[in-house]
Amino acid sequence: MADLQKFIRNVPDFPKKGIGFKDITTLLREGKVFHEAVDVLAEKFSDKEIRKIVGIESRGFIFGAALAYKWNIGFVPVRKPGKLPAATVKEEYELEYGTDAVEMHKDAVSQNEKVLIVDDLLATGGTAAATLKLVRKLGGDIQGVVFLIELNFLNGREKLKGYDVISIIQYDSE
Ligand code: AMP
Repeated sequence: MADLQKFIRNVPDFPKKGIGFKDITTLLREGKVFHEAVDVLAEKFSDKEIRKIVGIESRGFIFGAALAYKWNIGFVPVRKPGKLPAATVKEEYELEYGTDAVEMHKDAVSQNEKVLIVDDLLATGGTAAATLKLVRKLGGDIQGVVFLIELNFLNGREKLKGYDVISIIQYDSE
């Protein structure tokens, strides 16, 4: 098995000073490594009867769609405001400065449907926590939240308490 962390490029001071950006394009471009990363994510939840993947814009789409294809189940995009064409539910969340929001189509998940939420990276947890609220609003049964990368030092997990949270690669500092 490849050391997946070796394929993540750390880009200092992007998009602003002090942030160490975890660039996954260096993993995605290696066919076998990308394949393995998806398989490792899939193994973590293989015992659950998941019926739908909810992927968070935009890099959550890459891993979420791959998992949905692998398991032969549906994929639902969670997007930034104004991108989805039909009726949506919306959830706002706090950023360091100001607020942001995510949206999902109202008819994307049905009552009690078993759902797995997927994103590339867990930082402060704001985006994933807002996504949990969206799925709950629609009555989805959340089986877990899965990330390729987790930045432990930002304690994002705290915002996702009560849920099964899985990550494959962890960083203890920037
Ligand atoms: P948060 O809501 O703080 O957990 O931020 C999560 C979202 O921001 C994810 O969709 C990530 O793709 C992106 N993100 C946050 N911090 C980083 C980072 N250091 N490197 C790459 N992406 C990041």
